Amino acid sequence: MNPYWSAVVRELTPYVPGEQPKIDKLIKLNTNENPYPPSPAAIEAMHAEIGNGLRLYPDPQSTRLRQAIAAANGVSSDCVFVGNGSDEVLAHAFQGLLRHELPLLFPDVSYSFYPVYCGLYGIEYRTVALREDFSLAVDDYAGPCGGIVIANPNAPTGRALPRAEVERLVAAHPECVVLVDEAYVDFGGESAVPLVKRYPNLLVTQTLSKSRSLAGLRVGLAIGQPGLIEALVRVKDSFNSYPLGRIAIAGATAAYEDVEHFERTRSAVIASREWLAGELAALGFEVLPSGANFVFARHPDHDGAALQAALRERRVLVRHFARPRIDQYLRITVGTDAECATLVAALREILAGQAARASAPG
Ligand SMILES: *Cc1c(COP(=O)(O)O)cnc(C)c1O
Repeated sequence: MNPYWSAVVRELTPYVPGEQPKIDKLIKLNTNENPYPPSPAAIEAMHAEIGNGLRLYPDPQSTRLRQAIAAANGVSSDCVFVGNGSDEVLAHAFQGLLRHELPLLFPDVSYSFYPVYCGLYGIEYRTVALREDFSLAVDDYAGPCGGIVIANPNAPTGRALPRAEVERLVAAHPECVVLVDEAYVDFGGESAVPLVKRYPNLLVTQTLSKSRSLAGLRVGLAIGQPGLIEALVRVKDSFNSYPLGRIAIAGATAAYEDVEHFERTRSAVIASREWLAGELAALGFEVLPSGANFVFARHPDHDGAALQAALRERRVLVRHFARPRIDQYLRITVGTDAECATLVAALREILAGQAARASAPG
């Protein structure tokens, strides 16, 4: 261990992002990126932004972008915060709104960045077990706590909680902030944004990385009442006043304004997901219902890690988590129809091969 490290850094257990390999002709279904390109209008707006203007700092408040997001969500722009990916927005929320005396609660199976932020900011937390079928029971969160974080739809399960249940959770906890991470909401979840007007303790985060095909641009957002947004702004302005560059602000604004492209691509992903889930079920997989751009599935007769490795040999990348409760599952991002078909063909081959080996004598 390097002697110059601070005590905090020595204790960190950092998040491990999904692999971004540099291998050619790989079918990449491991990090929930969108298989379709971003809005052509967004690309054009970003090209137009490259020039002399980059000499100057960007608008520290990202006003244009916040207005576009506010308009799309039927809220005022003082209810919108933007940051360098929703990961940054989440980090600011953990530090600014979720660090209190009582422990923070989140599900035992959820986005693995949550405990990492707790480690970074010294936040005490307790995980609450999801039900056997990975659905979330709101009543298991009863009693005072320092804050609650849920992903809805959840990652990596894909399961969505109805808005009425989210409301029950928010209403039961006026003492703390309930953060709803809606990274995947556009693929089939019910957003909690319409509840923001009525609940001063509700913060909703979303991202342009998944449903708007801009993971590489790094833009995420939060929607909440101005009191919560002000906390995020205070953290941001104590950390980096310019989290979004001019290119990101231009591209993200145009992406929000191109409703037609957004609707068409997300419908395509949803349709492919339903096809993929059906094919996996036909191969004998148990597939959880998904409101996201991925499916979470296990095969009763085949080990999850072994399946992932066998797929990798066939140049198909999916995500496997060596974690309790989910180590037999694969999380498979919904690709194009052609990519999904290649994945299904590879799995069919692998299952046939392993079945043959299992029944071979000796
Ligand atoms: C992808 C993801 C995010 C982060 O997205 P950004 O690219 O940082 O905007 C946040 N939460 C969950 C649950 C995710 O899956």
